[in-house]
Amino acid sequence: MSLDEIAREINNCRKCQLWTTKTRYVPGEGSEKAEVVFVGEAPGREEDKQGRPFVGNAGKLLTEMIENVLGLSRKDVFIANVLKCRPPNNRDPLPEEIDACSPYLIRQLTAIKPEIIVCLGRFSASFIFELLNIPFPGISKVRGRVFEAEMDGRKVKVMATYHPAAILYKPQLKEIFEGDFKTISSLLRKRKTNPTLLDFID
Ligand code: URA
Repeated sequence: MSLDEIAREINNCRKCQLWTTKTRYVPGEGSEKAEVVFVGEAPGREEDKQGRPFVGNAGKLLTEMIENVLGLSRKDVFIANVLKCRPPNNRDPLPEEIDACSPYLIRQLTAIKPEIIVCLGRFSASFIFELLNIPFPGISKVRGRVFEAEMDGRKVKVMATYHPAAILYKPQLKEIFEGDFKTISSLLRKRKTNPTLLDFID
């Protein structure tokens, strides 16, 4: 199933009550051939208005990291959330909302077959780690570490980092956050089939 077909289904979804309070569905966006997929928690106010993921202040920081540290554009990666509708007042997702909505994310990951899944924040990390049978002792224990898992019979690397919104509240964490993106960058360079010396210079 293509990403467009999945997005069409999402845009007609009534599997939980969030469709009644949302402004727009936010299926996610980016490349069908993305090597890296970023997974957030749920749309916030700006995302709900625009129907696009990570376009508010947290999104600006994520975009800056993708462009400046990874040297990629948002079009090269895929950006999605566990929930495709905004919970009222940005409250935490409910377990039944995650159960209802997460099959869409799983289908998106199955369609893209990424090399690397980056979990932004603890909700996303706890969902993805459980999905891929990776023990999840808490975000602070797994943050910045690279795990290998299997998805649909293929190897996939999984990393969790802070949610970019957390960095806006605690700017002192930005250096660690940026360090996590450097880890992602070196994973991407390592898997190039013919790296040149230049690929190893930061
Ligand atoms: N926070 C998220 O988790 N996702 C978004 O798309 C925006 C903010």
